[in-house]
Amino acid sequence: MNFRYICTMYVRAKKSLGQHFLKDGNIAERIVESLETSLSKSVLEIGPGTGVLTQHLVRLEGVDFKAAEIDTESIEYLKKNYPLIGENLLEGDILKMDLDKVFGGSFSVIGNFPYNISSQIFFKLLNYKEQVPQIVCMLQKEVAERLASPPGNKSYGILSVLLQAWYNIDYLFTVEPGSFTPPPKVRSAVISLKRNSRESLGCDEVQFKRVVKASFNQRRKAVRNSVKQLLEGKTPPDSYLFGQRPEQLSVEEFVELTKLIYEV
Ligand code: SAH
Repeated sequence: MNFRYICTMYVRAKKSLGQHFLKDGNIAERIVESLETSLSKSVLEIGPGTGVLTQHLVRLEGVDFKAAEIDTESIEYLKKNYPLIGENLLEGDILKMDLDKVFGGSFSVIGNFPYNISSQIFFKLLNYKEQVPQIVCMLQKEVAERLASPPGNKSYGILSVLLQAWYNIDYLFTVEPGSFTPPPKVRSAVISLKRNSRESLGCDEVQFKRVVKASFNQRRKAVRNSVKQLLEGKTPPDSYLFGQRPEQLSVEEFVELTKLIYEV
């Protein structure tokens, strides 16, 4: 069994909550150092667990820090071992929280994300993109590569396009399974997403999302086939874009495609 002891308490790692506790203190420090506290004075940690990142985050000067954790056992552990956290521990499911109410303004996000819900976390954070200048997180390595990969790359997908529209994404470093208790079956990686200067897409955001999702439904086919339903029988102006596969299209080309489809 894998336990993390301090005092007389332990937290048993729960698979269903994606709990893999980082045990390498140097990696924890590198993750925290990748957060640029000048970008926002508020910081939200997702899934603090037994506090390997939290212990550093609660001490950051001038930072309004909060952490969101679903596991009651971890919450008890954190309160006991890091009393500095005080009232700043939000108990519950990050996917159900109204993040507008947490800080009331901008906030950066940090965390070793629960891998089983990392995509859902990103879809959620995209709704707050105007308030979130930076996200530093650990993910399954394949997912990290996917998010950071440019068009033309095999792993480029829906979240790559949706996130790259608003964020510059840097792959920071790889973390091996042995750095965790219990070790996950997959390799991990830390990435940083920083908000770019884009203020608007130049097309409707909901339509853009729809086009990206529909296109990647059949990633090996020309988008002409995948967006047929969205056209509802209308014929758009001819464009080379319809002959491309989704993984070849940049954010700007998806914007053009959205306009071609919805402005007929
Ligand atoms: N940050 C810790 C733990 C990472 S494991 C470390 O690096 O060691 C992922 C953490 O996310 C666990 O603590 C788990 O309980 C928590 N978690 C899982 N699902 C969650 C959810 N829906 N909302 C908030 N926290 C969640």
